[in-house]
Amino acid sequence: MTQPPTRADVVIVGAGTAGCIAAEILSRDAGRRVLLIEAGGLAPTPEELVLGRLPVGPGSPRVRVYRTTEGLAVPRGRGLGGSAAVNGGYFLRWHHRDVDALVAAADAPEVFSSASVADAYDVLDGGRCGGGSMSVHTVGDDDLSLAVTALESLLRTTQGSPVEPPWPDTGWMRVRTNRRDGARVTTWAAFTEPALRRPNLMVLTGTPVQRIRARSNRVHSAVTDVGEIVAADVLLCAGTFGTAEVLMHSAVADPDVFGRYATLGFGEHREMFVRYRVDDEVRTAAAEPPRIVLPTVGHTDDGCEIRFYNGDFADHIGGVQPSLPAVGVVAMTSTQRGVMRLDGAGRMRIELPGLSADDLVTMRRWAEGVGQMLTDTSMRGIVDPDSVTIDQPIATSQHACGSLPIGTATDALGTLGDIGGLRVLDGSLLPRSGRSGPHATVAMVALRIATVLSAGAPGSRLP
Ligand SMILES: Cc1cc2nc3c(=O)[nH]c(=O)nc-3n(C[C@H](O)[C@H](O)[C@H](O)COP(=O)(O)OP(=O)(O)OC[C@H]3O[C@@H](n4cnc5c(N)ncnc54)[C@H](O)[C@@H]3O)c2cc1C
Repeated sequence: MTQPPTRADVVIVGAGTAGCIAAEILSRDAGRRVLLIEAGGLAPTPEELVLGRLPVGPGSPRVRVYRTTEGLAVPRGRGLGGSAAVNGGYFLRWHHRDVDALVAAADAPEVFSSASVADAYDVLDGGRCGGGSMSVHTVGDDDLSLAVTALESLLRTTQGSPVEPPWPDTGWMRVRTNRRDGARVTTWAAFTEPALRRPNLMVLTGTPVQRIRARSNRVHSAVTDVGEIVAADVLLCAGTFGTAEVLMHSAVADPDVFGRYATLGFGEHREMFVRYRVDDEVRTAAAEPPRIVLPTVGHTDDGCEIRFYNGDFADHIGGVQPSLPAVGVVAMTSTQRGVMRLDGAGRMRIELPGLSADDLVTMRRWAEGVGQMLTDTSMRGIVDPDSVTIDQPIATSQHACGSLPIGTATDALGTLGDIGGLRVLDGSLLPRSGRSGPHATVAMVALRIATVLSAGAPGSRLP
């Protein structure tokens, strides 16, 4: 595109998981001019999408790295496809219990009901058989490292059969991944790219939206450094950090309208690692190309996810210091909140949520249980039993969400407070940190809202 447009009916800010779905669905109406604006560059190459490699290491052009107050780097995908272009490729639905909470929070059965949520997941993941627009497949036996194969045998003996797709539940299960020919499938490739021939769909890359301008409590335009783009409706899909940043800069310029967004909380899945050393002979025998990062998970009754990673993160992420293979223990249902705000220089300050004493006790109990699995006699010859340690530092899962939860900060269609025409459609909307990772659910929520908006339900008509 040579000349950036100055006007559109709908501007979508951010071409990540949610933005790409919204752009395709809203541009089905040929009379609606939809402009998708992305801060980063073009879509990744097939090599960059190889599932076993995450281009999120130091210097990667595929991410923007935010820093937390405790010094952790939190990368987010940048460029067409957003975080799905760089993520681990785990694509699991929320549990029924989490969906029930979303349906209750939204309190709008025409947007979210148990049936419409299940249908939307089916569109994305193909239901029980897999497939769907995101080409979702259950991880196969040959995707497992020797250690995870042995751990699965132990799980089968002690816990019984795995939970069958498509709904995760308490128990253990193989992960489902969004992949084709060994590469991640993004919503850019699945939704927007095939729609590019539509003359009413425009895409602008390399153009960060700085802020939103409103007039008389109605959205007026998206302000970029190549000019202002006037729109009747603006959908914020810049991800939990990106959307917060746009709103915070809007609050600096116009505190009367946006002031309430100057500070925002958010949820995260914090993680503790149980490390182990693989027996030398096994390590030599297993020197193969990197597989998927995370093939198998366990979900506990008390809201933890146990992640049986295939190996060391350094096998998957360039520039990361080699460490040891790990099993992660994650507090998925923690209610602790982090904080985002701008500092005096206008930079995002991100404070990760803490963990309550109860969360820590639960995580440590499961970490000790994982330690017992790793030292079980059935693991002899694979895991060195003297090497098992529980890491003290608590890491993040890169799953920040819920800064503008449906039913609290927005209505069921993501409308922000009383600012007419301004909606949020991305991970910011999730009303809780679900028992599974967010990717499938961010996509499902965007699919539902965009579908209802596109159909022009009463009170939700777009131009
Ligand atoms: C390294 C990593 C691994 C992950 N692994 C998994 C996993 O295996 N399973 C899982 O369920 N979840 C995973 N996630 C989380 C999941 O990918 C995200 O929750 C999901 O993709 C978020 O979608 P989104 O639409 O909210 O935002 P994103 O997909 O992040 O999209 C936001 C887009 O907006 C753009 N943008 C930001 N600011 C602006 C601006 N001012 N103007 C214009 N554009 C802007 C960004 O460049 C980006 O393209 C992972 C995330 C990361 C970062």
